Formats: sequence, C-alpha cells, structure tokens
Amino acid sequence: MKHVLVIAGLDPSGGAGLLADARVAAEHGVRAVGVMTATTVQDTQGVRAVDPVSAEILEEALAALLGDVEVHAVKIGMIGTLRQAEVIVRALAATGAPVVWDPVFLPSRGVPLLDGDPREVARLLLPEARVVLPNALEASLLSGIRVVDEETLRAAARAIPAAAVLVKGGHLAGPRARDLLRDGEDEEILDGERLDAGPLHGTGCVLSTALACGLAGGASLRDAAVAAKSYLAAKITAPLDVGRGARCLV
Ligand code: PLP
Repeated sequence: MKHVLVIAGLDPSGGAGLLADARVAAEHGVRAVGVMTATTVQDTQGVRAVDPVSAEILEEALAALLGDVEVHAVKIGMIGTLRQAEVIVRALAATGAPVVWDPVFLPSRGVPLLDGDPREVARLLLPEARVVLPNALEASLLSGIRVVDEETLRAAARAIPAAAVLVKGGHLAGPRARDLLRDGEDEEILDGERLDAGPLHGTGCVLSTALACGLAGGASLRDAAVAAKSYLAAKITAPLDVGRGARCLV
C-alpha cells in the first residue's frame, strides 16, 4: 500500500482541493492521507471566502501524521499564509518522500487563496520540491519572465529555482496543449491534443496529484508526468456537471 500525503485546502464542491485529491489518489490505487490548510466557501462558480487553519494546528497535524505513517510522495496544493509555508517546510524534514508542489495562489474564479506574497512562499517551498507545476501565469510570477509563448515558457522553466518544473502551457495560444518538463538540465515538451471542454474546475489539482501518485509508485518523474497528463486528458473528455458553474473532473 502506497500513501500520498496531500496538504491542501477544502473545496466543498469537491472539484478541487482535498476531496478531489483523495479521489484521484484512489483512482491510482494509492491511499491518500491529508492535512487541511484552509476551509473555503466555494461552489462550482468560484471561491467566495477562505479561512486558513492556524499554522500551529497545521504543524501539529503534520508532525503527528509523519511521525506515524510512512508516506511515499507529498502533494502540496493550496497554502493560505506564509506562516503555513514555514511550518510545512519544517515538517517535511521528517520525510524523504518526493514533494510535488502545485503553486496555486489564485483560483480560476473568485477571491485569492493565499493571503500574502506568493514570491515569499515560493522562496521557502521551491527548494523542497522535487517538481513544481505552475501554469503560465504562475510561472511568470515565480520566474519574473512574462510567459506568452513557448520561448518564454522555456526561459521561465530555466529561471525557476527548483529541481524540476512542469510548466503547463494549456492557457497559451496554439493548436496543441504543450507543457514543458525541465528536470535539471533535461528539457522535454509534453505534447497533447488541445481539448476544449469549456470552464473546468480543479485541473491543476488533478494533474499534480496524479503525478504525485506516479512518484509514490516508484515511476520516474518523466513517466509520472506523461501518465498524469494523459490521465488529465481522459478526465477532460468526460467532465462532470456537478453544479451550475465550471465542470469538475472527479
Ligand atoms: N480551492 C481549493 C481548495 C484549491 O486547492 C484549488 C486549486 O488548487 C482551487 C480552489 C482552485 O481551483 P480552480 O482554479 O481549478 O477552480
């Protein structure tokens, strides 16, 4: 039995955050254990309010869990405050499991998830991550390079100081959905069909948790990224009408 530790927020609609992550893990035959960073007031139409868990409780919860359960990968999603990032970094010292960070600061719709400067959170978490998965906007923020095309996407991936970066090119113009995986010095474009399913909710959560499950199972980063991308593509072809807003993937 492999365990993935999910550190993420609660989205009551289940399209993103802990509930979605747990379902993705189950579909990969991996057992999710999780610590919640925040509760959100949210439906499929957007995030209306965010209430972060105290950093002290988060730290205690992580210490208790990691002192008890062996985890094989860690996925970090929504972080509510800089203090939370600080205690997460401290807690991660208790595990050597690979860390997958989805640097989500803003939801597609609604109020910001992070109360603070994303660059300060990044300064703490980037050195911890085996791989970070920014979209074009997040990659711009983390690198200081405005990502508008494949060339700037490459430049940003090189400039982000993490062991590996999977920059999601889905929001860029072009006939294909092209992501860039940089692992150390190696770079590879992961090319996929551009799938237009209208507004979707939780794509970043699904991709990053699927990738973490691959790593938990012992796959290489490249194989885990390719498998996660094809898992996400399959989900996008069959989205779920959960509410009146964006469609969910799990
Ligand atoms: N709410 C929570 C708790 C999340 O973790 C995330 C994404 O990571 C979101 C909302 C944003 O979801 P989306 O922008 O895909 O709608």
